[in-house]
Amino acid sequence: MSNKSAKNAKSKNSVYENVVHQFNKAVDLIDLPDSIRKILSTTNNEIIIHFPVKMDDGKIEIFTGYRVQHNNALGPYKGGLRFHPLVNIDEVRALATWMTWKSAITNIPLGGAKGGIQIDPSKYSKSELERIARRFTFSLGNNIGPEYDIPAPDVNTNPQIMAWIMDTYLSTMPPNERNRCIHVVTGKPIESGGSLGRNKATGQGVVFTIREWAKANNFNLDGATYFVQGFGNVGSWAARLLKEYGSKMLAASDVSGRLYNENGIDPEDLYNYAQKNNGLIKGYPKAEEINKENFFGLKADIFVPSALENQITAETAPLLNVKVIAEGANGPTNIQGDEIVQQKNIDVLPDILCNAGGVIVSYFEWLQNKRSEFWTLEEVDTKLENKMVTGFENVQEATQKYDTDWRTAAYIVALSRLRTVYKERGIFP
Ligand code: NAD
Repeated sequence: MSNKSAKNAKSKNSVYENVVHQFNKAVDLIDLPDSIRKILSTTNNEIIIHFPVKMDDGKIEIFTGYRVQHNNALGPYKGGLRFHPLVNIDEVRALATWMTWKSAITNIPLGGAKGGIQIDPSKYSKSELERIARRFTFSLGNNIGPEYDIPAPDVNTNPQIMAWIMDTYLSTMPPNERNRCIHVVTGKPIESGGSLGRNKATGQGVVFTIREWAKANNFNLDGATYFVQGFGNVGSWAARLLKEYGSKMLAASDVSGRLYNENGIDPEDLYNYAQKNNGLIKGYPKAEEINKENFFGLKADIFVPSALENQITAETAPLLNVKVIAEGANGPTNIQGDEIVQQKNIDVLPDILCNAGGVIVSYFEWLQNKRSEFWTLEEVDTKLENKMVTGFENVQEATQKYDTDWRTAAYIVALSRLRTVYKERGIFP
């Protein structure tokens, strides 16, 4: 990946620079033809849309939304849609690229894309958010589609928003085609065509990955300690599912603060509290607040970052005192952070493997919709487990074969698969 692409993506603390660095590190270890290197260094399509929406008071506001489609050599573009005030083209470009690697590692026939709207959703009413989601969908038009590019939930988006996107997309179609296109989004509510197990899928995948790492290292999860940054969809599910292995959560954080209890915090209890507190953990009575240094410096076995990018950095990585980091979030560790944790011999189970459970069950939802099927939770979980375990084993094998870290090994698995496909298909014309 050329530094020119990185410069094009430039913004302060560029997330895309992390991707360029990670990609180049892996490419240097394998025999990737220059043509394929060039193709994968570039996103296929980048769409920026400014669109107007009527607010509750009758005034019009203009919003900016993004959809970046990185690569579709393995199948239709696939990736989440986030609502966040800091969303920008650099970030979406990075997130779209990571999606391509995730599908390649876990062997699902999908490509990589991501989208976002630059917005602080806490400042808007539910009906305003509905109109924002619908108008963005309408503006995207045929840039998304059930066989072309399929959004899903991400930070601050949820099944309800997916239902609005689906409904808007279908409303623009000829009536006789509507019912066969509900797979234009995944992560829908169950009644509207969602899959059982999708809501917990990413957290479940994180926990399967931790379990496999524990097995490979003869590490007993029963009695192990962990803490979680971000207590939303991914973080709260990972926290609750890890508890089932007998592990103890010492701390959790979200946008409202950081909580700690040396005797452990029950993640289910904290989740129930947050549900009644606008989704926030602040004010939870059975734990004390701690500062950022003490949070990152906690002595524990496992750290699960599940919030945003660039959290494990030159500032925070030196504080870490854990055996393993399981990246629930996308891009939580930046270039400097990665170097420091490696020097400290902390294993990093990389985002593109560890949090792939979300896209895997999204793929299952997409398949169920296409076939008019409805799978049991057991079926979904078993299939997810198989995909995660195989992905883990392939990456683990690459760590040994190339004598490298987990992230670089995960890239090698992804790039090797894409290399084979490009070699077989060739490049038109
Ligand atoms: P979410 O909106 O449900 O939760 C995000 C959480 O992070 C919230 O608890 C929020 O308060 C917290 N947070 C935000 N800023 C923070 C900060 N500065 N410090 C601490 N906490 C902070 O989002 P999510 O779907 O759980 O996504 C979390 C991460 O996981 C993102 O990086 C996302 O891209 C990634 N991811 C999500 C999925 C999925 O299926 N939802 C799949 C793969 C990866």
